Amino acid sequence: MSAPTFTLDNRFATDLPELTISWQAQSPPAPTLLLLNETLADELGLDPDWLRTPDGVGLLTGTALPAAATPVAQVYAGHQFGGLQPRLGDGRALLLGEFGDGRDLHLKGSGRTPLARGGDGLAAVGPMVREYLISEGMHALGIPTTRSLSVVATGATVYRETPLPGAVLARVAASHLRVGSFQYAAGTGDLGLLRRLADHAISRHHPGAAAAANPYLALFDAVITVQAELVARWMLVGFVHGVMNTDNVTISGETIDYGPCAFMDTFDPATVFSSIDGWGRYAYGNQPSITGWNLARLAETLLPLIDDDVEKAIEIATETLGDYATRYQQAWRAGMHVKLGLPAGTDDGLVDELPALLEEHKLDYTSFFRGLARGDVALGLMNWVQRWRAHRPDTEAMNRVNPVYIPRNHLVEEALAAATAGDLDPAARLLDVLGDPFTERPGLERYAAPGSEDFAASYRTFCGT
Ligand code: AMP
Ligand code: MG
Repeated sequence: MSAPTFTLDNRFATDLPELTISWQAQSPPAPTLLLLNETLADELGLDPDWLRTPDGVGLLTGTALPAAATPVAQVYAGHQFGGLQPRLGDGRALLLGEFGDGRDLHLKGSGRTPLARGGDGLAAVGPMVREYLISEGMHALGIPTTRSLSVVATGATVYRETPLPGAVLARVAASHLRVGSFQYAAGTGDLGLLRRLADHAISRHHPGAAAAANPYLALFDAVITVQAELVARWMLVGFVHGVMNTDNVTISGETIDYGPCAFMDTFDPATVFSSIDGWGRYAYGNQPSITGWNLARLAETLLPLIDDDVEKAIEIATETLGDYATRYQQAWRAGMHVKLGLPAGTDDGLVDELPALLEEHKLDYTSFFRGLARGDVALGLMNWVQRWRAHRPDTEAMNRVNPVYIPRNHLVEEALAAATAGDLDPAARLLDVLGDPFTERPGLERYAAPGSEDFAASYRTFCGT
C-alpha cells in the first residue's frame, strides 16, 4: 500500500469565489465503505488499498482532506421544469477540489450546506448505489458521464418515507460547471464574473474556443456540439435522464445527476419514469428538443459577452443555435447507421422508418438490435428487415455497439433493495455485468432480459432522494 501523493487543487474556488461557499462535510458516525471503483482510483493515482483505510475513507467522506484542500458548496441557478430558480446550489454536495488532471472530486450526501433550502443535506444508500451503478454502466457504454468513485455508508439514518441507511457518494467529473452556473453568474449582473466563468469553462473544456474571433460564441458553439452528441447517445441507448433542468446540463458534455433516470424497455417516445414529471416534459422522445431549449437558456446568459450590441448578439447566437437540430440529427443518424450495421452511404429510409416500427410493434429497444443481428425479429417487421438485409449489414460490427446488458430497471431495483438491507453482492454482480455490456456471456441470460410488463407499467423514479 502506498501513501497518498495526490493533491487537491482549488482552481474553481480561486477563479470563481462568487460561485462558492466554503463548507465542511459532516462527520459520519460509523463510516463503512460499500463500493469502491478500483479502476477509477488507479486512473486517478489513488491506491485502492489506501482508500480502504480510515484515512482513505476520510477522503471519500470529505472528513480527512489534504491540508491545502478547501471544500466548497457551489452556487448556481436553474430552470426547474421550466421555472427559473435564481439561487440553487449544492444543498447536500461539496466540491472537494480538483485532481492534477483537472477533474473534480465531489461528494453527494455530505450534510446540509447553506444552500440546502428545506432539505436535510443527506442521501440514502439506495439512491447513491443507483447513481454508482447507472453512471458506471453509462461509462462502459462509452457515453460521456460523471464517474462514481465510491459509496460509503455513514451509519446514520436518513428519513424519507421510511427510515433508511445514509450514504455518501464520491464522484469524479470533468467539472461541475452547468448551464445553471452561467445563469447564476449572468443573474448577478456582474459582467466580470460572467467573463471569468466563461474563460474558466473555455480553458477547462473547450480550449479551442480561445483562439476563435469570438471566443464566447465559440464556447457556445462547442457546448452545442457536445450536448447534441450527448443527447444523441442517450437516444441511441434508450436512456431517459428524467430531470433535464438547466442545473443538470453540463458545459463539459458529460451526463450528470442520476436521480430519476432509467432505461426504456419497450420502445415508446412517451416513456417517463419520474414521479414528478406528470406532463412528460422530460419524456424519452422530448429529450432532443429539451436540450435545444436548455442551450437557448445558455445562449441568453452569454449574449453580453458575444457582442456589446444586444440585437447583434441575439442574431449571432440564434444563428449558431440554429445548427443544433442538424448536429443532433447527424449524430443520431450516424449512430443508428452503425447500430444497424449498414455500410457507409446506404440507408434508403431504413433509419428514419425504424422508430415508428419499434413503437407500433412494442419491441424491447435494447434486445431488438441484438436479435436483428442474430436473425431473430418480429414478424411484422419482415418487409423492413428484407430491405435491411439487402444491404448485407455487418452483424459483427452491430454487436460491438449494441449492448446485451444495460442497467435494466428491475435489476437495478433488486440490487438497491439488497444494498439497503446490507447485502452489496447483487450490486457488485450487476456492476460486473454492466462493465462489459457488449459481450454476451453464458449464464447471464437474466441480465439481458426485460422485466415483466407489470413491473414496467408501475415503475416510478424519484428526485432529491
Ligand atoms: P437534483 O434534483 O438532485 O438535481 O437536486 C436539485 C437541488 O436540490 C440541488 O441543488 C440539490 O443540492 C438539492 N437537494 C436535493 N436533495 C437534497 C437534500 N436532501 N438536502 C439538501 N438539498 C438537496
Ligand atoms: Mg442536480
